[in-house]
Amino acid sequence: IDTIPDNEQATICPYCGVGCGLILKTRGARIVSISGDSSNPVSKGRLCVKGRYGVTGFVHHPDRLTGPLVRKNGVYTPVPWDEALETVCSRLAQYKPSEVAVISSAKATNEENYLIQKLARAVLETNSIDHCARLCHAPTVAGLAAAFGSGAMTNSIGDLKKAACFFIIGANTSESHPIIGFDLKQAIKNGARLIVANPAPVPLASRADIYLQHTPGSDVVLLSAMCKVIISEGLFDRTFIEERTEGFEELAASLADFSLDQAAETCGVPLTDIKAAARLYASSQPAAILYAMGITQHSHGTENVLAVANLAMLTGNIGKPGGGVNPLRGQNNVQGACDMGALPDVYPGYQKVGDAATRRKFESAWGVKLPYRRGLTVPEILDSIDRGKIKALYIVGENLILSEPDSGRVRQALSKLEFLAIQDIFITETAELAHVILAAASFAEKEGTFTNTERRVQRLRQAIQPAGESRPDWWITAELGKRLGGKGFNYSGPEQIFNEMRALTPSYSGISYHRLESGGLQWPCPDEDHPGTPILHAKQFARGRGIFKPVGYLPPAEQPDADFPFILTTGRSPYHFHTGTMTRRVTGLKALQPREILEIASSDAARLAISAGDTVRVTSRRGAVTAEARINRRLKPGVVFMSFHFPETNTNIITSPASDPSSGTPELKVAAVRLEKV
Ligand code: SF4
Repeated sequence: IDTIPDNEQATICPYCGVGCGLILKTRGARIVSISGDSSNPVSKGRLCVKGRYGVTGFVHHPDRLTGPLVRKNGVYTPVPWDEALETVCSRLAQYKPSEVAVISSAKATNEENYLIQKLARAVLETNSIDHCARLCHAPTVAGLAAAFGSGAMTNSIGDLKKAACFFIIGANTSESHPIIGFDLKQAIKNGARLIVANPAPVPLASRADIYLQHTPGSDVVLLSAMCKVIISEGLFDRTFIEERTEGFEELAASLADFSLDQAAETCGVPLTDIKAAARLYASSQPAAILYAMGITQHSHGTENVLAVANLAMLTGNIGKPGGGVNPLRGQNNVQGACDMGALPDVYPGYQKVGDAATRRKFESAWGVKLPYRRGLTVPEILDSIDRGKIKALYIVGENLILSEPDSGRVRQALSKLEFLAIQDIFITETAELAHVILAAASFAEKEGTFTNTERRVQRLRQAIQPAGESRPDWWITAELGKRLGGKGFNYSGPEQIFNEMRALTPSYSGISYHRLESGGLQWPCPDEDHPGTPILHAKQFARGRGIFKPVGYLPPAEQPDADFPFILTTGRSPYHFHTGTMTRRVTGLKALQPREILEIASSDAARLAISAGDTVRVTSRRGAVTAEARINRRLKPGVVFMSFHFPETNTNIITSPASDPSSGTPELKVAAVRLEKV
């Protein structure tokens, strides 16, 4: 009888950016089963293995923090909330604004991200607020904002089925965004064509009409080669280019001396395949580009995004159903955390902190003077801690020790902090370094909104009471704001926070909790009569005309050499999520993949006498880890693949901290390594 639900609540999956609808069926304080929400417009009742089986185990895990902890004489000691909050406030108050930074969370709601950036700016007086978009789609925001005027997914998930052709580059859609992967497979069954470009042989590659297995880091060359073929064979959309864009002549001129033979060699792909892909993409109307971190996590990630934008504009595939440039977001609210201004250079709605009129608007609303200089990104914050400039850090829901590249250096930097407060649902690997740990409620235990990868704002609803004395992030942050003397931190609940945010954020102005009751709304939604915007740039680009930007090729920061002859590229397992804090605590998911795997091409394995199941030491210029080998016959020789979900094998000890100068996003897709059988 304990497993028979007596209540149920519709809410949103806490994992990936698809934003599927869950029905949490509860009995008393426990979730007893989960099903898909058939009324959800994105998922229509479908769930992947993580959404269906990966929630209850972590929400009710005995490791959940059930109250705040303060480290006393080196031991974490349970304390009342008053004591924990006063400890954080008294410590943070000791530092100048330039000595404090805040890291927000793509797992937190929009309301929580809004409050966290408000706390940073209006109370701690710093714009040094950032979050994990720095690790993933910051180049998308920079690149697409420059080319189109908006850095978000142009089209909608439901609209993808209208595409005649998909070009998926640098994404493992069927495993990392499985519900979108289901839709793509259905569309392919119905006749849509598929081009996949990915150094790793992702499952969808086996269904592709053309599979381009290019060398990691050669995306700009591949995309530029496709542009060159389209221009030289006259396959471009002249009317769209003349009416909607600028900079075409400059792009064409930049490609005049571009050698296709050289490009094929750099990419490690036959030129005939590149030409075939360019022709198929350009001749299929409409054609949709999908990409993920295979494009962005490079030392030239913004150039990669600009090259994607060039390709889409050349063929007129912007502003129309079934077309577009569709960056797929990783965490379920990374779009929302960006939208809410958990970034060092913008307030909510991408309104620039450097713009005096915008700053005055927020000063007037919040009743304070605001800092006018752009703040620091996550890598800059870590550098600054290392140099002793930043002395206190408040982290909400991020696990930097496993997520950041060169994590040995990250650990060393965080250990230098005079004060570290962490707000999370577990004692993560990073929280083990904290002075105070603030126990947060899980997604199932609070109200709010998330914004998914297609810009859809959806309601998160509370199904059960918070575990023990844990509290929603919004409540904790508001308490800190009040106790630090901040004005306007007395909130009755998330809806009041949302209403304050939307009054200051034009793209969210027309979205209210009431309007979100039936399926959510896609921004921009400027007023309450506006239906939301499923397709961006339909009549004109957000910046007026879309702009072609010539892009040059820069090789990755590290190339294989005699000492480190392999390229390590990283990605995700279908059974785990990011640093694994939630999925590693789910018995069924852990059984499906209990430990880190090193995937190696069969020819490389044979040469090094490595067999499946052997333990292999993987060494880069920054350190070494060991992992179990798996032979992958379809992996490109010279390339090895690992995820980053397991603390026992912290892959990010060996990844490269080289980063994209425009966005600060690290080159997690290319590190030179050597392999030794242990
Ligand atoms: Fe959750 Fe993403 Fe799976 Fe949907 S596809 S159930 S949002 S993890």
